[in-house]
Amino acid sequence: LAKVSGRNCYRYFTNYLTQVAADRLELEHDLRLALDRGELVLHFQPIIDLESGCISGAEALLRWHHEKRGWVSPNIFVGIAEDVGMIDQLGVYVLERACQEARRWPAQIGGRPYVAVNVSPKQLHDAGFPEKVRRVLARTGLPASQLHLELTESAVMDGGAAARAVLAGIAELGVEVWLDDFGTGFSGLSHLRQVRVKGVKIDRSFTEDLLADRHDLALTHAIIAMAHSLQIEVVAEGVESAAQIQCLRSIGCRSGQGFFLGQPMPPLNLQNSLQTGIVDQRYRLIA
Ligand code: C2E
Ligand code: MG
Ligand code: MG
Ligand code: MG
Repeated sequence: LAKVSGRNCYRYFTNYLTQVAADRLELEHDLRLALDRGELVLHFQPIIDLESGCISGAEALLRWHHEKRGWVSPNIFVGIAEDVGMIDQLGVYVLERACQEARRWPAQIGGRPYVAVNVSPKQLHDAGFPEKVRRVLARTGLPASQLHLELTESAVMDGGAAARAVLAGIAELGVEVWLDDFGTGFSGLSHLRQVRVKGVKIDRSFTEDLLADRHDLALTHAIIAMAHSLQIEVVAEGVESAAQIQCLRSIGCRSGQGFFLGQPMPPLNLQNSLQTGIVDQRYRLIA
């Protein structure tokens, strides 16, 4: 495009790149201050037992409220934190805040709700990570069994022996290791038992296509059946409709997470949902 439209377009394009670079530098700078300023907060999205409609746990999702830009997506700033070497510090902060919250959640019919915390692949490079997790559990008093750590398939599969040792250290504590965005990386399920994966979260793209494409339906059904035969649990991500819930149930999926079942929400709102046991009135109607 730049070539066809000549010099002017080229100049706009370089201006644009300069702008992007400046923007990025500013975000890096601001992110370093954000922690101290209390601009980084956790929201929690409920994970629902699709049989009973009860809340089995919640995923902690990091939010940055930037003074000028408003809400900045973790898809943007988590990558920056990784690049500038802030992710270990940020990771421990998230872990601590998440465990503090979960410690106060009231028991549900299905037991005590767990908290699922996202972990960056970079955090698996740190051989001291399991010890950091252990200390956070000790400080906050949250039982290890109530903590799930979510990692992507590639973090686990490409991390080599060092990453597997860190995962073993986590599992040793009694903390559950889960694979996030499962199905997008195409690693075989049979590998998962070696790295002591307790569960998989089926990526939103599968849930999205369930009703439209019978091949996707068959594939998702097969993944769920195979996971269960290996004693691996399954949560479907990105549940946005009642029809998807019916479909997921029909192929043996017992848990789901998504906007239809509950939005990511501030800690107090989740507390309230846990107190009443109701996430969303709409779910009641179809449950
Ligand atoms: P993720 O772990 O796969 O989290 C799920 C994302 O899907 C969240 O986006 C959530 O808001 C969104 N989501 C939930 N239900 C639905 C739905 O029904 N439809 C659609 N379209 N989206 C849904 P969010 O909060 O923007 O986070 C994006 C990613 O950022 C997360 O993906 C995770 O990889 C990363 N992330 C978030 N918090 C942290 C953190 O504390 N540490 C690290 N390392 N990464 C984090
Ligand atoms: Mg996640
Ligand atoms: Mg996910
Ligand atoms: Mg996903």
